[in-house]
Parts: sequence; structure tokens; C-alpha cells
Amino acid sequence: MATSFTGQVPVGPTARIAVLGHGPVPAAEPVVRGDDRGVLHGDGLFETMHLRQGRPWLRDEHLARLAASAAAIELALPDAATLTDLLDKICAGWPARVEGALRLVCTRGPEAGAPTVYATLSEVPAAARVARRDGISVAHLPLGVPATARAELTWLPTGIKSTSYAVNSAARRWARANGVDDVLWVSSDGYALEGPTANVVWLTGDTLRTVPAATTGILPGTTVAWLLAHAGELGLSAAERMVTPAELQDADGVWFASSVRGLTEVHTLDGVRRDRCPRTPALQALLGFSVD
Ligand code: PLP
Repeated sequence: MATSFTGQVPVGPTARIAVLGHGPVPAAEPVVRGDDRGVLHGDGLFETMHLRQGRPWLRDEHLARLAASAAAIELALPDAATLTDLLDKICAGWPARVEGALRLVCTRGPEAGAPTVYATLSEVPAAARVARRDGISVAHLPLGVPATARAELTWLPTGIKSTSYAVNSAARRWARANGVDDVLWVSSDGYALEGPTANVVWLTGDTLRTVPAATTGILPGTTVAWLLAHAGELGLSAAERMVTPAELQDADGVWFASSVRGLTEVHTLDGVRRDRCPRTPALQALLGFSVD
């Protein structure tokens, strides 16, 4: 399908939905039953991927995280080949030059039923591209738990991309109500953890760092993992470590990293304007995110 134009206003490709076992369905068609436990309890998983040149970037890494999350919550997922086939179907014919946000959703399904699996594909929102170009303001927000408390609870699956995003949505609402673009959760013992939809990355000297996911239970981000694994290509080393908001203020660069927004520089942290980091364009280029 080609991107069409109406007069001077470019019109992108329309959003798509494809359901496992049914293939593409009209975007307005209901695909989830009212008694699906994903709807009733937020009992499900999802992955959001960046579609570039018509293909999902880091697809296998996303499928691996989904499989690990599914094992953690005992959700019986179709195998990777079946999920890949669904992704191929929804991506077929998407115009290569249009960046897409590709979501794969797997819910528990109705009581005694099979999981519900579907994919959605839409254009990357303009706001995400603006944030990538202009950066974002961020304020820290208390999460109310010590940094390692959640990971220490053996009953609690952590580091999973659950559809239970009520806390994340509340944090985004708080950001809007308080005039900032995003928030950085901080533990009750004073450590920065992650944003509601992104990992934090910072540069000190020649070292690019992020917060360890294994000990804190934050989401192990695919974007930040790839960035740190390839930091050497820019002459940087990479490390994981705990950090306080005060230490972040002194960093040479601070960014939020996530699949669709990509790498977004934090230009203001807790009301303090930061100098733009000269490394930002090279880091974004390394990750393959275009900036208008
Ligand atoms: N942390 C949270 C809570 C997220 O929701 C996300 C992405 O949505 C991330 C981190 C970044 O993960 P990824 O780079 O895999 O998109």
C-alpha cells in the first residue's frame, strides 16, 4: 500500500490490525471478547517494535523478551514461528519510508479459552518524532518502594512487559498535569529506576550507563541493551549502575530510550535546564533513528 496524498496534506498509511488465526481484520472490528482476562484483569503481555524499512527492528529480541515474560506468568504462547508469521502478515506492503509502531499483544483469553493474540501497526506518532528531535523535560516521581524490593520478591514476576499499565498511565497523567513531558521513577531509597515507557541512559566521560534491570526489576529494554552493546562503535564503553537524580544532573548527557521514540535527550531534569549533549546525533544515528 502506498502512502497517498490529498492536496498538500500528506496522508499516511491507515492503521492495521491482524489477529492470529484470522489474519488482517478491519481496524474497527472488535478482536477481544468482553470476558478476556486481558480486559478484566490486565492479564496479558505486549511488545512494541519499531518498524523501519518495512521490517520490525530487533524483532527476535522482542520475541525473546515476550517468551521470557510468558514463562514468568505461565501464559501459553504460540511458538516464535507462528508469531513471526503474524508479524509478517501485518507488515506486508507497509511503505518502507514510513516509520511504524508495531505492537504484538497476547492476553490470557477467556476463562478456559486459548490466549488472544493479535498485532497492531500504525504510523509512529508525530509527537514521538518531535520528542526525538527536540528532547523532553522530565521530573522525578517517587515510586514508593526500595530499588531492589520488587526483584527480591520471589512470587512477583518482574521485568515483564505486562498489559497492566495502570501505574505507568497514572505516571504519564501526572507528567501532563505537572507540565513535564515524562517522569523518572525514583525508589524510596533514592535511586533513579526507569520512566513509565522508557529506560534511562546517561553518559559520564566516555561511559554510557543504564540502570541494572536484574536487581531492580525494571523492564530490560531492548533499545538500551542494543545501544550499550554497540557503544564501542562510538569509542564509548558501557556499564550498568545505580544512580541518583542528583548524579544524573552532573552527567554529560541523559536520555530516555525506548522502541518507538528511540533515543530522546532529557533537556530539563527536575526544572534544571541541561546543555544539549553533542553526542546525541551520533547515538541516534547509531541506533538508526531518523530525526526530522
Ligand atoms: N521501561 C518501560 C516501563 C517500558 O514500558 C519500556 C517500553 O515500552 C521501556 C522501558 C523500553 O523498552 P524497549 O526499549 O524495549 O522499548
